[in-house]
Amino acid sequence: MDRYCVFGNPIAHSKSPEIHAAFAAQTGQQLSYEKLLAPLDGFAAAVQAFIAAGGKGANVTVPFKLEAHALADALTVRAQAAGAVNTLVFSEQGIIGDNTDGAGLVNDIVRNAGVAIAGKRVLLLGAGGAARGVVLPLLEHRPAALAIANRTVATAEALVQQFAALAGEGVLSACGFAEVQGKYDIVINATSASLSAELPPLPPSAFAPGALALDMMYGKEPTVFLRFAATHGAATRDGLGMLVEQAAEAFEVWRGLRPATTDLLQQLRTKL
Ligand code: NDP
Repeated sequence: MDRYCVFGNPIAHSKSPEIHAAFAAQTGQQLSYEKLLAPLDGFAAAVQAFIAAGGKGANVTVPFKLEAHALADALTVRAQAAGAVNTLVFSEQGIIGDNTDGAGLVNDIVRNAGVAIAGKRVLLLGAGGAARGVVLPLLEHRPAALAIANRTVATAEALVQQFAALAGEGVLSACGFAEVQGKYDIVINATSASLSAELPPLPPSAFAPGALALDMMYGKEPTVFLRFAATHGAATRDGLGMLVEQAAEAFEVWRGLRPATTDLLQQLRTKL
């Protein structure tokens, strides 16, 4: 049986084994998927031990996504753009590093929420690892504008510089939260502010009529950001769909099959 796993520290909370077991059952694939706690100073050794034990691939979560990027012998274009790796493929050519987080977010918006990105004005809050990973997949859908707002404006400006050559003239911009101007059709919270129940100080006027607000964080209750967005007329979506879709993308990378996600997403929602 082909072996896969997710490495993290901590890892007990991970839903990835449940998600991949459901994908395997649905597609008739024979595989095992476990969660492995890697020591904070022992990620590379844990990966090598898993390969030696016959592992075919792995997901990587906090805090090892940068180490996985450094460990890979080859990187996909989207992993290079993200500067981080959440999916490893163990091949005869060595360790291939990929990043499916951004594709997961975009698929959740376009396929699950049914909201096209093409031609829309998109506001991305945050400029950390999660934000960086979604810039290329968002740009590939040709939004009319992609504004990146961050507490530390210089980090958002660095992202704009990194991706400027891939975006159309005037599409990308950077600013602080309070300086956000104009209205946006899609507002994505990729900050970690929700973890501490904080709200990026965004002008309420940022939500265009009928806007979609998405928080990468998920939980039983809506985040402060999603409550704020709903108060100002936006449709809301948390990060559970992104989680399931990044897993579906990784499953396809490993197995060449695309699992359906709708029913699983509903099941996971009821268990939150
Ligand atoms: P990072 O630590 O790399 O970046 C954190 C970002 O949040 C920075 O832009 C930081 O700004 C900003 N920030 C932190 N605290 C505040 C605050 N109080 N107010 C405003 N901005 C703040 O984290 P990640 O990018 O890795 O993760 C961000 C979020 O995305 C997390 O909640 C994570 O759980 C979620 N996530 C969800 C996934 C999913 O599948 N659903 C996948 C990956 C991530 P500054 O630069 O100024 O410090």
